[in-house]
Amino acid sequence: MKMKFTSLLLLLALIACGQPKDKKSETSKIVPVKKTTAEWKAQLTSEEYYVLREKGTERAFTGKYWDNHEHGVYYCAACNQELFASETKFESGTGWPSFWQPISKELVAVGIDKSIGMVRDEVVCSRCGGHLGHVFDDGPKPTGLRYCLNSVSLKFEKTPKPEKK
Ligand SMILES: [Zn+2]
Repeated sequence: MKMKFTSLLLLLALIACGQPKDKKSETSKIVPVKKTTAEWKAQLTSEEYYVLREKGTERAFTGKYWDNHEHGVYYCAACNQELFASETKFESGTGWPSFWQPISKELVAVGIDKSIGMVRDEVVCSRCGGHLGHVFDDGPKPTGLRYCLNSVSLKFEKTPKPEKK
């Protein structure tokens, strides 16, 4: 009788192991944000909508972050995914906030933009697909990249500077 009970337990354990696990947490940490045009229009200001959803560009030297030297994190203005850190921001002289690297590679996606008669690498937020700007290969070391972004696409949050040791 005791023997039977053990084998039953073993059988149950085997069945449990064979069950498909919840794959969501394993395959992608980033859960995509998908909204309709009407939903985006309701959420974003007209300028944010123009840049983030219609791939517009704010005028140089007009955005709120090109000259921001505070320590902190830049989030996607549409879905709040963290994107860039102030440690990788640099003075590009272009009038747009420029970074040489995102916080992590999977936070942004790069696609080809053939508008305005030029082929450029477009940078979008990997969670909501919001247009952030473009990436060029004339940036500083160590990556040599220049992520040239729109202030409108970003939301900055100040964080305390780490103390120098
Ligand atoms: Zn986003």
